[in-house]
Amino acid sequence: MTENIDDSNDKLITETGVSYRDRVSNIDTSGKRIWIYPTKPSGRFHRARLFVGFSLLAVFFILPFIKYKGQPYFLIDVIDRKFILFGSIWFPHDFYIFAIGFLSFAVFVVLFTAIFGRIFCGWACPQTIFMELVFRKIEYFIEGNANKQKSLAKSPWNLSKTLRKMIKHLFFIAIAFIVNSVLLSYILSIDGVYNMLFVNPSGYLAGIVALSVVSLAMYINYSWFREQACTFVCPYGRLQSVLLDKNSIIVAYDDKRGEPRGKVKGEKRKKSSESENHNSQLTINNSEKGDCIDCGACVRVCPTGIDIRNGLQLECVNCTACIDACDSIMDSINKPRGLIKYSSISNIENRQKFRFTPRLAFYSIILVALLSVFFIFLISRSPVEATILRAKGSTFFINEKGNVVNIYTVKLINKSFDNMDIKFVTEDFSGKFKIIGKDKLVVKAEEMLEGTFLLEIPRKELKSSKNKIKILLFNGKDKVDSEKTIFSGPGI
Ligand code: SF4
Ligand code: SF4
Repeated sequence: MTENIDDSNDKLITETGVSYRDRVSNIDTSGKRIWIYPTKPSGRFHRARLFVGFSLLAVFFILPFIKYKGQPYFLIDVIDRKFILFGSIWFPHDFYIFAIGFLSFAVFVVLFTAIFGRIFCGWACPQTIFMELVFRKIEYFIEGNANKQKSLAKSPWNLSKTLRKMIKHLFFIAIAFIVNSVLLSYILSIDGVYNMLFVNPSGYLAGIVALSVVSLAMYINYSWFREQACTFVCPYGRLQSVLLDKNSIIVAYDDKRGEPRGKVKGEKRKKSSESENHNSQLTINNSEKGDCIDCGACVRVCPTGIDIRNGLQLECVNCTACIDACDSIMDSINKPRGLIKYSSISNIENRQKFRFTPRLAFYSIILVALLSVFFIFLISRSPVEATILRAKGSTFFINEKGNVVNIYTVKLINKSFDNMDIKFVTEDFSGKFKIIGKDKLVVKAEEMLEGTFLLEIPRKELKSSKNKIKILLFNGKDKVDSEKTIFSGPGI
C-alpha cells in the first residue's frame, strides 16, 4: 500500500488548460496513482450530510437488534430462504412480488437520477458514507488535516509515524470487522452472529473465515482503494453518462458568473489605492473578471481530486464539499454564495428553470404502472398460501346420504409468526369437510403442512359434472385465503 505523493498534484488539477478529459484525476501522466489528500470539509451541506449519514448508520446498526414476536424485525436469510421485512415474513413463493419491487426500484433509480443526478452517491451511498463520514474522519483525527497527512507521508518512519499509522489501521480493521458482523446479522440474525463469534466459534469456522475475508476486503477498500471504487468500479457511476441530461440537477460550477477567473489581488489593491488613475485601471480589470478567484479551495477539498470548474465529470460523487468550500470563499470576499451549487446545465447556460421533459414523463408512467401492480400484489398477499388439488387418480363417489363426495389434497404455507387453525368453507354450496387422519389442520408459524380432506355436497346443488367451486380458508373468524377448484359429480 504505497502512497504516491505527487507535489504537482494540486497544480495538475487546478491548472487551467490541463486536458482533464485525457486522464483520470488520481493517475499521473506516468500512470502512477496520485494519492488524494482532500482538505477537511465544513459548512452547511457537510453538516446536513453528517446528519443524514449518521441517521442512516444508526438505522443500519440498530435494525438487527429489533425483534418482533421473538423474531428479527429485518432478516435476509438467503441460506434458509426466509426473509423478514419490517416484521412481515416472506418466502421464495413471494418472489414475483420482489421481482416487481426490484423492477420498480430500478425504474425509480433511472427517474431519480435523470432528475437529481448523483444525489444518492453523495448522501446515501454506503461507500461515500463510510469513506467520508467514518474512515476519513478517523484519519483526520489521527493524522490531521490534508497538509499534515502529506507531511506525515513524506516524513521518515519514526516512532510517532509508526504509532499513528498503526493506531489508524487498527481502528480501520476493527471498524471493518464490526460493520461486517452487523451486516452478517442481517443474514444470520444478531443471535446467530453472537452465537458464532462468542458462544461456539469452533462450530462456525467457515463463517468466521468468510467474515474475516470480507472484513479484510472492506479494510483494503477504505484504507487504500478509496475513491477508485467510485471512479473505476461502481456501475451506477458509469450509468450517469446515459441517464443525465442538461436538465438533471448536478453539483455545477456557474461559469457564466465565475469566468474569467482570476486572483483577487486587483480588488484588494483597488480598495487600498489612493491613485485615481490606478483605480480606474483596476476597475476595468475587475469588471472583466468573474467571481471565481481561482483559489483552488474547491479542488483541494474534493475527495476524488477533480476540478468541478471543468464541468460535469464521471468522478464527481456529488459530495457537496466543493459547494461548502466555495461558499466560504464567497463569504470572505463578500460575494453571493452559490458559485458552485446544485443546478442543471440548462439553468447555468440559459437560466432555464427545471423542465419536466417527455423522457421524464415516460419514466414516470412506467414507474406508476409498476408501483400500482406492486401495491396490488402487496395488499392482496395473504398470510397463508394454500394449494388445493383434486387427489390424483380419484373420482367422485356417492355416500350413504346420497351426497356427492370428492377427495382433495391441500398444501398450506403459514407465512406468519402465529400458529393457524385452518377451517374450510365453500362459498356457493352447503359443503361439509372432513379432514382425513387428523381432527384439525393446525399449521405452525412459518411452517408448511400437507393434508387430505373429503368435501361432501348435496347432489341437488350440483349443476353439471364439473362444478366450479371456491373454498374459503378461515383462521378463527379471519378469512386468510381462498382457492378455486373443480368439484366433479354425476351431472344432471
Ligand atoms: S467535484 Fe465537488 S461534489 Fe464532486 S466529488 Fe468533488 S467535491 Fe464532491
Ligand atoms: S472555491 Fe470558488 S472561487 Fe475558489 S477556485 Fe473554486 S470556484 Fe473559484
